[in-house]
Amino acid sequence: MTRLGIIGGGQLARMLAQAAHKLDISTLVLDPKADACAGQVSELIQAEYDDQTALNQLAEQCDVLTYDFENVPAAGLQQLAGHCPVFPGVDILAVAQDRLSEKTLFGELDIAVPEFHAINSRPDLLAALEQTGYPAVLKTRRFGYDGKGQSILRQPEDMEPAWRRFEGHPLILEQFVRYDWECSVIGVRSAEGEIAYYPLARNHHNHGILDYSHAPIPNLDAGLKATAQSYLRRILEKFDYVGVLTLELFVVNGQPYANEIAPRVHNSGHWSIDGTACSQFENHVRACCGLPLGDTRAIGESLMLNWIGDLPDSAPYLKIDGLHWHPYGKQAREGRKVGHATLTAADREVFHAQVRQLAKLHGNPELVEFVTQS
Ligand code: AMP
Repeated sequence: MTRLGIIGGGQLARMLAQAAHKLDISTLVLDPKADACAGQVSELIQAEYDDQTALNQLAEQCDVLTYDFENVPAAGLQQLAGHCPVFPGVDILAVAQDRLSEKTLFGELDIAVPEFHAINSRPDLLAALEQTGYPAVLKTRRFGYDGKGQSILRQPEDMEPAWRRFEGHPLILEQFVRYDWECSVIGVRSAEGEIAYYPLARNHHNHGILDYSHAPIPNLDAGLKATAQSYLRRILEKFDYVGVLTLELFVVNGQPYANEIAPRVHNSGHWSIDGTACSQFENHVRACCGLPLGDTRAIGESLMLNWIGDLPDSAPYLKIDGLHWHPYGKQAREGRKVGHATLTAADREVFHAQVRQLAKLHGNPELVEFVTQS
């Protein structure tokens, strides 16, 4: 039996493990926390991510390794890669860990990217702000996720506090993009070079955290879709990539601009568990374990809603036909993703009726507008 090692034991590892088990692939997760939520569904090694002895143990006990977040120390993984395959490879992981390398890569591959500047000093920041003007976004190059490690500079007075907040860290200043909407494209590549794309998802963020996603996007412009897929393919092919890759995009005047990549399964693809024949989790496992890729086509339309901070009582939600409930087995905590729900329906009218029910229960009428405006 194949054994898949997963570094990081959050909800992504949990859903990867659940997908692996369906294929009779066992899993071993490594996470510093004894109560990591993937540990409820998989065997777990409790160790720090830079504990080389524990990483070696993981590699010895598994046939192939993957990770569920970007901030795994790349050097430690590089050492393992000689003994046990690591997918996606350590080279793309290193790029995704640094916003400057990531944006430089976009430029090299002719992928449209909003203006950005490397910031290593206060004069760098002043000079860059001359170019971008206000507003602009100052971000740490490393360890930022879900809107963490970033500050919007709306006016000159915002510069000093933001500089003091991040001083000492390598930084990047980005033009503030007045995007019309946001989307993501998720694809999977096998070791043989076969590529399959999921339908693009339209995403809505709140304070930098994904709130909800709708896929497929009805009436999506064919040119936008082709450009987004071509951007993703360029990255997949450059790195001889194996597994699932996500590219987040801003759409301005119908044109996509790359924001960031995630060399892994992604929150904006959770809808695929219920909304496709083969989810992003299953396809990632299939690609890593050398199995044929599965069908990425959508079954009707889906809306995925994140539960952030606390999980509501499921009972009223479960009354909605077509609603799938996904708790992560995590303790409630402000800003923490603790679960999600996905509404899926094959018929558009039925889907809209269900979204109206969900919006009413959730007290969020914007959901109806979100799925009808595309
Ligand atoms: P990130 O951590 O870079 O993915 O940012 C999280 C979210 O913050 C994005 O999905 C956007 O909603 C917003 N954001 C990040 N960078 C920018 C930017 N340069 N301009 C406008 N909004 C941004």
